[in-house]
Amino acid sequence: MRVRFAPSPTGQLHVGNARTALFNWLLARHAGGTFILRIEDTDAARSTRASEAAIVDDLRWLGLEWDEGVEKGGAHGPYRQSERLAIYRQHAEALLASRHAYYCFCSAEKLERERKAMLDAGLPPRYPGTCRDIEPANAAARVSSGEAAVVRLRVPLERDVVFDDMVRGLVSFHTDVIGDPVLVRSDGMPAYNFAVVVDDGLMEVTHVVRGEDHISNTPRQLLLYEAFGWPPPRFAHLALVMGPDHAPLSKRHGATSVREFREKGYLPAALANYLALIGWSPGEGEELLPLDELARRFDLATVAHSAGVFDEDKLAWANRHYLKASDASALVALTLPFLRERSMVVDPVSDLARDWLRQVIPPMAGSVDRLSEIPERLHTVFTFDAASALAREPIRHELDQPGARRVVTALGADLAASPRLTDRERFRAAAARVKEKTGAKGGALFHPIRVVLTGETQGPELDLLVPAIDSAAELSPASGLQAVTGCRERAAAFANLLRT
Ligand code: GLU
Repeated sequence: MRVRFAPSPTGQLHVGNARTALFNWLLARHAGGTFILRIEDTDAARSTRASEAAIVDDLRWLGLEWDEGVEKGGAHGPYRQSERLAIYRQHAEALLASRHAYYCFCSAEKLERERKAMLDAGLPPRYPGTCRDIEPANAAARVSSGEAAVVRLRVPLERDVVFDDMVRGLVSFHTDVIGDPVLVRSDGMPAYNFAVVVDDGLMEVTHVVRGEDHISNTPRQLLLYEAFGWPPPRFAHLALVMGPDHAPLSKRHGATSVREFREKGYLPAALANYLALIGWSPGEGEELLPLDELARRFDLATVAHSAGVFDEDKLAWANRHYLKASDASALVALTLPFLRERSMVVDPVSDLARDWLRQVIPPMAGSVDRLSEIPERLHTVFTFDAASALAREPIRHELDQPGARRVVTALGADLAASPRLTDRERFRAAAARVKEKTGAKGGALFHPIRVVLTGETQGPELDLLVPAIDSAAELSPASGLQAVTGCRERAAAFANLLRT
Protein backbone atom coordinates (compact mmCIF):
# COMPACT_ATOMS: atom_id res chain seq x y z
CA MET A 1 0.00 0.00 0.00
CA ARG A 2 1.25 3.47 -0.92
CA VAL A 3 -0.69 6.55 0.19
CA ARG A 4 0.09 10.24 0.06
CA PHE A 5 -0.78 13.56 1.62
CA ALA A 6 -0.52 16.31 -0.98
CA PRO A 7 -0.98 19.74 0.56
CA SER A 8 -0.89 22.97 -1.40
CA PRO A 9 1.46 25.29 0.50
CA THR A 10 -0.76 28.35 0.43
CA GLY A 11 -1.23 28.97 4.15
CA GLN A 12 -1.32 27.18 7.48
CA LEU A 13 -2.30 23.52 7.78
CA HIS A 14 -6.08 23.43 8.32
CA VAL A 15 -7.22 20.89 10.92
CA GLY A 16 -9.43 19.28 8.26
CA ASN A 17 -6.35 18.70 6.09
CA ALA A 18 -4.42 17.52 9.13
CA ARG A 19 -7.16 14.93 9.65
CA THR A 20 -6.75 13.85 6.01
CA ALA A 21 -3.00 13.49 6.60
CA LEU A 22 -3.70 11.54 9.80
CA PHE A 23 -6.10 9.12 8.10
CA ASN A 24 -3.52 8.49 5.37
CA TRP A 25 -0.87 7.93 8.02
CA LEU A 26 -3.13 5.57 10.03
CA LEU A 27 -3.94 3.61 6.90
CA ALA A 28 -0.28 3.28 5.93
CA ARG A 29 0.82 2.33 9.44
CA HIS A 30 -2.03 -0.16 9.78
CA ALA A 31 -1.04 -1.94 6.59
CA GLY A 32 2.73 -1.56 6.91
CA GLY A 33 2.54 0.63 3.80
CA THR A 34 4.33 3.79 2.69
CA PHE A 35 3.16 7.31 3.52
CA ILE A 36 4.31 9.94 1.02
CA LEU A 37 4.37 13.72 1.48
CA ARG A 38 4.11 15.61 -1.80
CA ILE A 39 3.93 19.38 -2.08
CA GLU A 40 1.49 20.68 -4.69
CA ASP A 41 2.99 24.07 -5.37
CA THR A 42 2.18 24.68 -9.03
CA ASP A 43 0.11 27.72 -8.12
CA ALA A 44 3.16 29.98 -8.10
CA ALA A 45 1.22 33.07 -7.08
CA ARG A 46 -0.16 31.52 -3.88
CA SER A 47 2.43 28.90 -2.90
CA THR A 48 5.25 29.84 -0.54
CA ARG A 49 8.21 28.04 0.96
CA ALA A 50 7.25 29.51 4.33
CA SER A 51 3.89 27.77 4.15
CA GLU A 52 5.55 24.50 3.09
CA ALA A 53 7.95 24.75 6.05
CA ALA A 54 5.06 25.43 8.44
CA ILE A 55 3.07 22.44 7.12
CA VAL A 56 6.11 20.16 7.38
CA ASP A 57 6.74 21.37 10.92
CA ASP A 58 3.11 20.89 11.97
CA LEU A 59 2.99 17.35 10.55
CA ARG A 60 6.13 16.44 12.48
CA TRP A 61 4.74 18.11 15.60
CA LEU A 62 1.61 15.96 15.28
CA GLY A 63 3.81 12.87 15.00
CA LEU A 64 2.87 12.10 11.40
CA GLU A 65 6.29 11.29 10.00
CA TRP A 66 6.35 10.31 6.31
CA ASP A 67 8.45 7.63 4.64
CA GLU A 68 9.02 9.33 1.31
CA GLY A 69 8.70 12.92 0.21
CA VAL A 70 10.09 16.39 0.71
CA GLU A 71 13.01 16.58 3.14
CA LYS A 72 13.11 12.78 3.11
CA GLY A 73 13.71 11.79 -0.49
CA GLY A 74 12.79 8.47 -2.03
CA ALA A 75 12.84 6.61 -5.31
CA HIS A 76 9.90 8.48 -6.85
CA GLY A 77 11.06 12.08 -6.44
CA PRO A 78 11.23 14.96 -6.77
CA TYR A 79 8.31 15.42 -4.37
CA ARG A 80 7.65 19.10 -5.02
CA GLN A 81 5.48 19.64 -8.10
CA SER A 82 7.36 22.77 -9.12
CA GLU A 83 10.40 20.52 -9.60
CA ARG A 84 8.50 18.08 -11.85
CA LEU A 85 7.57 20.41 -14.72
CA ALA A 86 9.63 18.47 -17.29
CA ILE A 87 7.81 15.28 -16.27
CA TYR A 88 4.40 16.91 -16.82
CA ARG A 89 5.49 18.32 -20.19
CA GLN A 90 6.63 14.90 -21.33
CA HIS A 91 3.36 13.30 -20.23
CA ALA A 92 1.27 16.01 -21.88
CA GLU A 93 3.13 15.35 -25.12
CA ALA A 94 2.39 11.65 -24.82
CA LEU A 95 -1.34 12.36 -24.47
CA LEU A 96 -1.24 14.78 -27.41
CA ALA A 97 0.49 12.14 -29.50
CA SER A 98 -2.09 9.50 -28.60
CA ARG A 99 -4.86 12.05 -29.31
CA HIS A 100 -6.24 11.69 -25.79
CA ALA A 101 -5.45 15.39 -25.49
CA TYR A 102 -5.57 18.32 -27.88
CA TYR A 103 -4.59 21.98 -28.10
CA CYS A 104 -7.31 24.53 -27.49
CA PHE A 105 -6.90 28.11 -28.73
CA CYS A 106 -10.10 29.62 -27.34
CA SER A 107 -9.48 32.95 -25.61
CA ALA A 108 -10.56 33.53 -22.02
CA GLU A 109 -13.09 36.13 -23.27
CA LYS A 110 -14.65 33.70 -25.72
CA LEU A 111 -14.90 30.99 -23.06
CA GLU A 112 -16.51 33.43 -20.66
CA ARG A 113 -19.10 34.53 -23.27
CA GLU A 114 -19.97 30.89 -23.95
CA ARG A 115 -20.22 30.14 -20.24
CA LYS A 116 -22.64 33.01 -19.72
CA ALA A 117 -24.77 31.97 -22.69
CA MET A 118 -25.05 28.42 -21.33
CA LEU A 119 -26.00 29.68 -17.87
CA ASP A 120 -28.58 32.02 -19.42
CA ALA A 121 -30.05 29.06 -21.30
CA GLY A 122 -30.31 27.17 -18.00
CA LEU A 123 -27.59 24.69 -18.96
CA PRO A 124 -24.64 23.59 -16.81
CA PRO A 125 -21.70 25.56 -18.16
CA ARG A 126 -19.00 23.47 -19.75
CA TYR A 127 -16.45 23.79 -22.52
CA PRO A 128 -18.34 23.25 -25.82
CA GLY A 129 -15.52 21.35 -27.53
CA THR A 130 -14.67 24.02 -30.09
CA CYS A 131 -11.05 22.94 -30.69
CA ARG A 132 -11.53 19.16 -30.34
CA ASP A 133 -11.29 18.48 -34.03
CA ILE A 134 -8.53 20.79 -35.15
CA GLU A 135 -6.05 18.70 -37.16
CA PRO A 136 -3.08 17.90 -34.88
CA ALA A 137 -0.55 19.05 -37.53
CA ASN A 138 -2.41 22.32 -37.94
CA ALA A 139 -2.62 22.83 -34.14
CA ALA A 140 1.09 22.08 -33.72
CA ALA A 141 1.92 24.65 -36.39
CA ARG A 142 -0.18 27.30 -34.63
CA VAL A 143 1.56 26.52 -31.34
CA SER A 144 5.04 26.76 -32.90
CA SER A 145 4.11 30.09 -34.50
CA GLY A 146 3.57 31.36 -30.94
CA GLU A 147 -0.21 31.26 -30.63
CA ALA A 148 -1.37 30.83 -27.04
CA ALA A 149 -2.92 27.44 -26.33
CA VAL A 150 -3.95 25.20 -23.46
CA VAL A 151 -3.93 21.40 -23.57
CA ARG A 152 -7.28 19.73 -22.90
CA LEU A 153 -8.29 16.13 -22.22
CA ARG A 154 -10.61 14.64 -24.82
CA VAL A 155 -13.37 13.31 -22.55
CA PRO A 156 -15.18 10.35 -24.10
CA LEU A 157 -18.83 11.13 -24.86
CA GLU A 158 -21.85 9.32 -23.48
CA ARG A 159 -20.14 7.37 -20.75
CA ASP A 160 -20.59 6.78 -17.07
CA VAL A 161 -17.50 6.98 -14.93
CA VAL A 162 -18.08 4.82 -11.87
CA PHE A 163 -15.85 4.14 -8.90
CA ASP A 164 -16.22 2.34 -5.62
CA ASP A 165 -15.29 4.88 -2.99
CA MET A 166 -13.92 3.21 0.14
CA VAL A 167 -15.91 5.55 2.37
CA ARG A 168 -18.94 6.46 0.29
CA GLY A 169 -19.57 3.36 -1.80
CA LEU A 170 -20.42 3.51 -5.52
CA VAL A 171 -20.11 6.95 -7.07
CA SER A 172 -21.07 7.64 -10.66
CA PHE A 173 -20.68 10.64 -12.98
CA HIS A 174 -21.87 10.91 -16.57
CA THR A 175 -19.29 12.30 -18.97
CA ASP A 176 -21.86 14.68 -20.46
CA VAL A 177 -21.48 16.92 -17.42
CA ILE A 178 -17.69 16.95 -17.71
CA GLY A 179 -16.33 19.53 -20.14
CA ASP A 180 -12.90 18.65 -21.53
CA PRO A 181 -10.68 19.73 -18.64
CA VAL A 182 -7.55 21.81 -19.09
CA LEU A 183 -4.44 19.73 -18.43
CA VAL A 184 -1.77 22.31 -19.17
CA ARG A 185 -2.35 26.05 -19.00
CA SER A 186 -1.17 28.47 -21.67
CA ASP A 187 1.84 29.40 -19.48
CA GLY A 188 2.91 25.76 -19.54
CA MET A 189 1.94 25.03 -15.94
CA PRO A 190 0.05 21.79 -15.30
CA ALA A 191 -3.49 21.99 -13.92
CA TYR A 192 -4.24 20.23 -10.63
CA ASN A 193 -6.11 17.26 -12.15
CA PHE A 194 -3.28 16.54 -14.55
CA ALA A 195 -0.34 16.93 -12.16
CA VAL A 196 -2.07 14.87 -9.49
CA VAL A 197 -2.63 11.91 -11.84
CA VAL A 198 0.87 12.04 -13.29
CA ASP A 199 2.26 12.10 -9.75
CA ASP A 200 -0.03 9.52 -8.19
CA GLY A 201 0.57 7.29 -11.21
CA LEU A 202 4.37 7.61 -11.25
CA MET A 203 4.61 7.48 -7.47
CA GLU A 204 2.62 4.22 -7.60
CA VAL A 205 0.04 5.47 -5.15
CA THR A 206 -2.45 2.68 -4.43
CA HIS A 207 -4.99 4.55 -2.29
CA VAL A 208 -5.99 8.21 -2.60
CA VAL A 209 -7.56 9.40 0.65
CA ARG A 210 -8.61 13.03 0.52
CA GLY A 211 -11.33 15.54 1.31
CA GLU A 212 -14.77 15.24 -0.19
CA ASP A 213 -14.28 18.62 -1.88
CA HIS A 214 -12.27 16.69 -4.49
CA ILE A 215 -14.92 14.14 -5.36
CA SER A 216 -15.97 15.87 -8.57
CA ASN A 217 -12.33 15.82 -9.71
CA THR A 218 -12.17 12.05 -9.42
CA PRO A 219 -14.00 11.17 -12.68
CA ARG A 220 -11.65 13.50 -14.59
CA GLN A 221 -8.70 11.84 -12.93
CA LEU A 222 -10.04 8.35 -13.69
CA LEU A 223 -10.36 9.32 -17.36
CA LEU A 224 -6.73 10.43 -17.26
CA TYR A 225 -5.60 7.09 -15.83
CA GLU A 226 -7.50 5.49 -18.68
CA ALA A 227 -5.80 7.75 -21.20
CA PHE A 228 -2.37 6.83 -19.87
CA GLY A 229 -3.31 3.17 -19.68
CA TRP A 230 -2.46 3.10 -15.99
CA PRO A 231 -4.40 1.15 -13.35
CA PRO A 232 -6.20 3.69 -11.15
CA PRO A 233 -5.77 3.78 -7.36
CA ARG A 234 -8.65 3.16 -4.94
CA PHE A 235 -10.30 6.38 -3.79
CA ALA A 236 -11.68 7.38 -0.40
CA HIS A 237 -13.30 10.78 0.09
CA LEU A 238 -13.58 12.00 3.66
CA ALA A 239 -16.43 14.22 4.78
CA LEU A 240 -15.22 17.71 5.60
CA VAL A 241 -14.75 18.84 9.17
CA MET A 242 -17.62 21.14 10.15
CA GLY A 243 -18.11 24.00 12.57
CA PRO A 244 -20.86 23.88 15.22
CA ASP A 245 -23.33 25.30 12.67
CA HIS A 246 -22.59 22.40 10.28
CA ALA A 247 -20.89 24.66 7.74
CA PRO A 248 -17.30 23.70 6.80
CA LEU A 249 -14.96 24.78 9.60
CA SER A 250 -13.63 28.21 8.67
CA LYS A 251 -12.13 31.35 10.16
CA ARG A 252 -15.48 32.65 11.26
CA HIS A 253 -15.74 29.70 13.66
CA GLY A 254 -12.45 30.76 15.30
CA ALA A 255 -9.23 28.74 15.21
CA THR A 256 -8.91 26.45 12.17
CA SER A 257 -5.22 25.71 11.74
CA VAL A 258 -2.99 23.26 13.54
CA ARG A 259 -0.71 26.23 14.27
CA GLU A 260 -3.48 28.09 16.10
CA PHE A 261 -4.35 25.09 18.27
CA ARG A 262 -0.66 24.59 18.92
CA GLU A 263 -0.31 28.18 20.05
CA LYS A 264 -3.37 27.83 22.25
CA GLY A 265 -1.48 25.18 24.19
CA TYR A 266 -2.95 21.89 22.97
CA LEU A 267 -0.64 18.90 23.00
CA PRO A 268 0.11 17.18 19.69
CA ALA A 269 -0.99 13.82 21.11
CA ALA A 270 -4.34 15.34 22.12
CA LEU A 271 -4.94 17.06 18.79
CA ALA A 272 -3.96 13.98 16.75
CA ASN A 273 -6.07 11.68 18.91
CA TYR A 274 -9.02 14.08 18.77
CA LEU A 275 -8.81 14.49 14.97
CA ALA A 276 -9.05 10.71 14.62
CA LEU A 277 -12.34 10.80 16.53
CA ILE A 278 -14.05 13.13 14.04
CA GLY A 279 -16.14 10.73 12.02
CA TRP A 280 -14.40 7.60 13.28
CA SER A 281 -14.33 5.63 16.50
CA PRO A 282 -11.57 3.28 17.59
CA GLY A 283 -14.03 1.46 19.85
CA GLU A 284 -16.91 2.04 22.24
CA GLY A 285 -15.67 3.93 25.32
CA GLU A 286 -12.06 3.68 24.17
CA GLU A 287 -11.38 6.98 22.58
CA LEU A 288 -8.13 8.09 24.14
CA LEU A 289 -5.48 5.90 22.58
CA PRO A 290 -1.96 6.50 21.31
CA LEU A 291 -1.41 6.84 17.57
CA ASP A 292 0.09 3.38 17.13
CA GLU A 293 -2.94 1.80 18.76
CA LEU A 294 -5.27 3.92 16.62
CA ALA A 295 -3.34 2.70 13.58
CA ARG A 296 -3.72 -0.91 14.71
CA ARG A 297 -7.51 -0.46 14.80
CA PHE A 298 -7.95 1.84 11.79
CA ASP A 299 -10.25 0.77 8.98
CA LEU A 300 -11.56 3.10 6.26
CA ALA A 301 -14.72 1.00 6.02
CA THR A 302 -15.74 2.24 9.47
CA VAL A 303 -15.22 5.95 8.72
CA ALA A 304 -18.53 7.86 8.75
CA HIS A 305 -19.92 9.18 5.45
CA SER A 306 -21.37 12.22 7.10
CA ALA A 307 -19.60 15.30 8.29
CA GLY A 308 -18.09 15.49 11.76
CA VAL A 309 -18.32 18.61 13.87
CA PHE A 310 -15.16 20.03 15.39
CA ASP A 311 -15.82 20.18 19.13
CA GLU A 312 -13.21 22.17 21.01
CA ASP A 313 -14.59 21.06 24.38
CA LYS A 314 -13.87 17.48 23.45
CA LEU A 315 -10.39 18.47 22.30
CA ALA A 316 -9.85 20.15 25.68
CA TRP A 317 -10.99 16.94 27.39
CA ALA A 318 -8.44 14.94 25.40
CA ASN A 319 -5.85 17.58 26.21
CA ARG A 320 -6.39 17.28 29.95
CA HIS A 321 -5.86 13.54 29.64
CA TYR A 322 -2.56 13.97 27.77
CA LEU A 323 -1.38 16.75 30.08
CA LYS A 324 -1.54 14.20 32.90
CA ALA A 325 -0.28 11.25 30.87
CA SER A 326 2.70 12.78 29.04
CA ASP A 327 6.19 12.16 30.33
CA ALA A 328 8.09 15.03 31.93
CA SER A 329 10.66 15.57 29.17
CA ALA A 330 8.01 15.74 26.46
CA LEU A 331 5.97 18.21 28.51
CA VAL A 332 9.02 20.40 29.08
CA ALA A 333 9.88 20.44 25.38
CA LEU A 334 6.30 21.41 24.50
CA THR A 335 6.08 24.07 27.21
CA LEU A 336 9.38 25.78 26.37
CA PRO A 337 7.91 27.99 23.59
CA PHE A 338 5.35 29.37 26.05
CA LEU A 339 8.03 30.03 28.67
CA ARG A 340 10.30 31.69 26.11
CA GLU A 341 7.53 33.99 25.07
CA ARG A 342 7.31 35.24 28.67
CA SER A 343 11.13 35.37 29.02
CA MET A 344 10.94 32.81 31.83
CA VAL A 345 13.65 30.94 29.95
CA VAL A 346 16.20 32.17 27.46
CA ASP A 347 18.28 30.03 25.12
CA PRO A 348 20.46 28.13 25.57
CA VAL A 349 18.49 26.28 28.25
CA SER A 350 21.00 24.25 30.29
CA ASP A 351 20.52 20.70 31.55
CA LEU A 352 20.16 22.07 35.09
CA ALA A 353 17.33 24.33 34.00
CA ARG A 354 15.70 21.43 32.14
CA ASP A 355 15.95 19.27 35.27
CA TRP A 356 14.23 22.02 37.21
CA LEU A 357 11.48 22.28 34.59
CA ARG A 358 11.04 18.49 34.63
CA GLN A 359 10.38 18.67 38.38
CA VAL A 360 8.06 21.64 38.26
CA ILE A 361 5.99 21.36 35.08
CA PRO A 362 4.32 17.92 35.36
CA PRO A 363 2.49 18.68 38.64
CA MET A 364 1.34 22.04 37.22
CA ALA A 365 0.26 20.40 33.95
CA GLY A 366 -2.12 18.18 35.89
CA SER A 367 -4.22 21.17 36.89
CA VAL A 368 -4.46 23.22 33.69
CA ASP A 369 -6.44 22.77 30.47
CA ARG A 370 -3.71 23.91 28.11
CA LEU A 371 0.06 24.40 28.07
CA SER A 372 -0.40 28.13 27.54
CA GLU A 373 -1.71 28.37 31.13
CA ILE A 374 1.52 27.03 32.65
CA PRO A 375 3.48 30.33 32.59
CA GLU A 376 0.66 31.92 34.57
CA ARG A 377 1.01 29.19 37.19
CA LEU A 378 4.75 29.87 37.37
CA HIS A 379 4.27 33.62 37.56
CA THR A 380 4.92 33.78 41.31
CA VAL A 381 8.16 31.84 40.93
CA PHE A 382 9.64 34.41 38.56
CA THR A 383 8.01 37.60 39.77
CA PHE A 384 8.40 38.84 43.30
CA ASP A 385 8.10 42.38 44.62
CA ALA A 386 7.28 42.73 48.32
CA ALA A 387 6.60 46.48 48.15
CA SER A 388 4.04 46.27 45.38
CA ALA A 389 2.48 43.19 47.01
CA LEU A 390 2.07 45.17 50.24
CA ALA A 391 0.37 47.97 48.34
CA ARG A 392 -2.47 45.56 47.50
CA GLU A 393 -5.48 45.42 49.78
CA PRO A 394 -5.96 41.61 50.02
CA ILE A 395 -2.30 41.18 50.98
CA ARG A 396 -2.45 43.87 53.66
CA HIS A 397 -5.67 42.38 54.94
CA GLU A 398 -4.00 38.98 55.28
CA LEU A 399 -1.03 40.41 57.15
CA ASP A 400 -3.27 42.45 59.44
CA GLN A 401 -4.78 39.27 60.88
CA PRO A 402 -3.91 38.60 64.52
CA GLY A 403 -0.54 36.89 64.80
CA ALA A 404 0.30 37.23 61.09
CA ARG A 405 3.20 39.61 61.61
CA ARG A 406 4.75 37.32 64.22
CA VAL A 407 4.67 34.54 61.62
CA VAL A 408 6.38 36.84 59.11
CA THR A 409 9.10 37.82 61.58
CA ALA A 410 9.67 34.24 62.71
CA LEU A 411 9.80 32.97 59.13
CA GLY A 412 12.31 35.69 58.18
CA ALA A 413 14.52 34.77 61.09
CA ASP A 414 14.24 31.04 60.49
CA LEU A 415 15.02 31.16 56.76
CA ALA A 416 17.95 33.54 57.32
CA ALA A 417 19.57 30.77 59.36
CA SER A 418 18.63 27.66 57.37
CA PRO A 419 19.51 26.13 54.00
CA ARG A 420 17.24 26.82 51.06
CA LEU A 421 13.91 24.97 51.01
CA THR A 422 14.76 22.89 47.97
CA ASP A 423 12.40 20.06 48.82
CA ARG A 424 9.04 19.58 50.46
CA GLU A 425 10.49 18.12 53.66
CA ARG A 426 12.68 21.14 54.29
CA PHE A 427 9.73 23.44 53.71
CA ARG A 428 7.55 21.46 56.10
CA ALA A 429 10.27 21.45 58.74
CA ALA A 430 10.64 25.24 58.48
CA ALA A 431 6.86 25.70 58.75
CA ALA A 432 6.85 23.43 61.81
CA ARG A 433 9.56 25.50 63.48
CA VAL A 434 7.61 28.73 62.81
CA LYS A 435 4.50 27.10 64.17
CA GLU A 436 6.34 26.13 67.34
CA LYS A 437 7.80 29.58 67.79
CA THR A 438 4.55 31.50 67.21
CA GLY A 439 1.81 29.11 68.17
CA ALA A 440 0.06 29.88 64.86
CA LYS A 441 -1.45 26.96 62.99
CA GLY A 442 -3.61 26.09 59.98
CA GLY A 443 -4.65 29.13 57.96
CA ALA A 444 -3.19 31.53 60.53
CA LEU A 445 0.18 29.95 59.81
CA PHE A 446 0.00 29.14 56.10
CA HIS A 447 -1.81 32.23 54.80
CA PRO A 448 0.94 34.61 55.92
CA ILE A 449 3.58 32.14 54.74
CA ARG A 450 1.97 32.01 51.30
CA VAL A 451 1.72 35.79 51.11
CA VAL A 452 5.34 36.27 52.10
CA LEU A 453 6.82 33.56 49.86
CA THR A 454 4.68 34.15 46.78
CA GLY A 455 3.35 37.70 47.04
CA GLU A 456 -0.14 36.28 46.42
CA THR A 457 -3.06 35.15 48.59
CA GLN A 458 -3.64 32.03 46.53
CA GLY A 459 -2.02 29.81 43.92
CA PRO A 460 -0.57 26.34 43.44
CA GLU A 461 0.21 24.21 46.49
CA LEU A 462 3.03 25.59 48.63
CA ASP A 463 4.51 22.07 48.79
CA LEU A 464 5.17 22.43 45.07
CA LEU A 465 5.80 26.11 44.82
CA VAL A 466 8.28 26.63 47.65
CA PRO A 467 10.76 23.92 46.53
CA ALA A 468 10.33 25.21 42.96
CA ILE A 469 11.25 28.75 44.04
CA ASP A 470 14.23 27.75 46.15
CA SER A 471 15.70 25.23 43.74
CA ALA A 472 15.44 27.85 40.97
CA ALA A 473 17.10 30.40 43.27
CA GLU A 474 20.13 28.12 43.41
CA LEU A 475 20.57 28.19 39.61
CA SER A 476 22.72 30.84 38.04
CA PRO A 477 21.24 33.13 35.37
CA ALA A 478 23.57 31.41 32.89
CA SER A 479 21.40 28.29 33.28
CA GLY A 480 18.87 29.79 30.93
CA LEU A 481 16.27 30.15 33.65
CA GLN A 482 15.27 33.71 34.48
CA ALA A 483 16.76 34.77 37.86
CA VAL A 484 14.54 33.82 40.79
CA THR A 485 14.42 35.47 44.22
CA GLY A 486 14.70 32.78 46.92
CA CYS A 487 12.34 32.28 49.85
CA ARG A 488 14.94 33.57 52.32
CA GLU A 489 15.18 36.89 50.47
CA ARG A 490 11.42 37.08 50.05
CA ALA A 491 10.79 36.61 53.74
CA ALA A 492 13.50 39.14 54.62
CA ALA A 493 12.00 41.73 52.27
CA PHE A 494 8.56 41.43 53.87
CA ALA A 495 9.94 41.39 57.41
CA ASN A 496 11.92 44.59 56.68
CA LEU A 497 9.01 46.43 55.14
CA LEU A 498 6.68 45.48 57.96
CA ARG A 499 9.21 46.53 60.59
CA THR A 500 9.49 50.11 59.25
N1 GLU B 1 -3.32 19.78 -3.30
C1 GLU B 1 -4.65 19.27 -3.12
C2 GLU B 1 -5.26 19.92 -1.90
O1 GLU B 1 -4.53 20.41 -1.05
C3 GLU B 1 -4.57 17.77 -2.97
C4 GLU B 1 -5.80 17.06 -3.36
C5 GLU B 1 -5.57 15.58 -3.46
O2 GLU B 1 -5.27 14.98 -2.43
O3 GLU B 1 -5.65 15.06 -4.56
O4 GLU B 1 -6.45 19.99 -1.76
